[in-house]
Amino acid sequence: MDSEGQQLHIFIFPLMASGHLLPAVDIAKLFAEKGVRVSIITTAGEEPAIQASCRSSEAGRRVRTLLVEWSSSAIGLPDSLSSVKTLDMHMDFLMRTSALRPSFEQLVKDHHPAAIVTDSFYPWTAEVAEEVGIPRLVFDGRSFFTLCLSDKINLSTDTQESSADSGDRIVIPGIPHRIELIRSQLFDAKKMRPDFPDVFMKMKEAEGRSYGTVVNSFYELEPDYADHYRKVMGRKAWHIGPVSLCNKDPADSAMRGGRTTLEQTRCLTWLDSKAERSVLYVCFGSLSRFTETQLREIAGGLESSGHPFIWVVRNAGQGNYSGQWLPESFEERVVDSGTGMIIRGWAPQVLILNHVAIGGFLTHCGWNSSLESVAAGLPVVTWPIFADQFFNERLLVDLLKVGVDIGTVKAEEIAAAVGRLMEDSPEAEERRSRARELKAAARWAMEEGGSSYNDLARLIQELWEKQSAASHART
Ligand code: UDP
Repeated sequence: MDSEGQQLHIFIFPLMASGHLLPAVDIAKLFAEKGVRVSIITTAGEEPAIQASCRSSEAGRRVRTLLVEWSSSAIGLPDSLSSVKTLDMHMDFLMRTSALRPSFEQLVKDHHPAAIVTDSFYPWTAEVAEEVGIPRLVFDGRSFFTLCLSDKINLSTDTQESSADSGDRIVIPGIPHRIELIRSQLFDAKKMRPDFPDVFMKMKEAEGRSYGTVVNSFYELEPDYADHYRKVMGRKAWHIGPVSLCNKDPADSAMRGGRTTLEQTRCLTWLDSKAERSVLYVCFGSLSRFTETQLREIAGGLESSGHPFIWVVRNAGQGNYSGQWLPESFEERVVDSGTGMIIRGWAPQVLILNHVAIGGFLTHCGWNSSLESVAAGLPVVTWPIFADQFFNERLLVDLLKVGVDIGTVKAEEIAAAVGRLMEDSPEAEERRSRARELKAAARWAMEEGGSSYNDLARLIQELWEKQSAASHART
């Protein structure tokens, strides 16, 4: 609140997918802790989960939700990307977000926020912000590393060829380190749908016109890329993470995502019975789907690794699954004997990662999961599947040196990678010790005086200044 009793009011409008929504709710809480009035813009389908995630903390209870609706041109699209079942519908959803514009515009006119923080999948919000003369900040949950690499890799195959290339391997040009990727790992929007690259062009163009980018990261994690993004690419950015650390109380972490189930309580009790750092946590994020064959390989790999595990499996036993996704007698051998636990559905990930019994994380390298593992001080086995997950893998394995990459999806390879991660070798211990150092740095960044704490304070100060300059200009 300023001396005239005014409050800064911002809108946060995330994409309706867990990987975007959960950190956005954390960001809302961080702003609210600093006295900013925050409204999260969302759909009726997501509202209950957001409200439940916010209810557990005092700052969260000050966060409000306001609803947008699809205009009639997009009737039939679901309220959330997490409930989208086919790739085609996923594409439809991402390509038609402008059908939310009339409703969003109305909210902006009714509530006059001082700024909007919106997902890059809503490029049209840049125009809305310009029309009413307020800053638009972009938040889409990517790391500085990915923001820098994405800038170098163009979305069409012709420009990919201009990268220095040796066979199937591509060396990303013009970035602080030598980073190699395999050509097939590069996201090709054209392959998804012929007109999908247009969506990315609009997103990029809108980003260029926006006031800046809010990044869920901390300076000490990727200093060269934070500097590159700001100094070489010339972008304004604020690093304010790891935002999941705003959930200081275990009750907050448990409610992250707004879902608690009996299975969650069961899993924490199970973890309490295990030795320190003995358990591997396995989760592939909120969107990944595996075939039954792949699930059987994972099960085989986990079993033969010999290490206790918690494995989060989404949608198994439903839809197209025949129910034969586990090797024969797996449950009796592994689950009933207490060696492994399977969570079908949603796990309280942040809570689990921070349990003393967890010693490693087999992850798909979504940026939230990657950063949550860093914040929990855990080494990882990396198994990226899609888009920026391949970049995050390189950051974890090549630069931060806290990861073991898996190579293929065969049971033996999975078991070997898990073994390398969890064993007592000097190599594994070095990885653990680096992970512990990163955890300390992450926590320090969010403390008073830390780099993320300070950057958020700077951003809020700047928004205040912009708001008062705008109100003086009006009087
Ligand atoms: N998550 C969770 N429980 C689950 C699956 C995912 O809490 O069972 C959370 C996880 O902690 C992370 C987010 O969902 O914050 C997933 O984001 P990420 O970027 O890792 O992957 P995405 O789902 O976007 O692929």
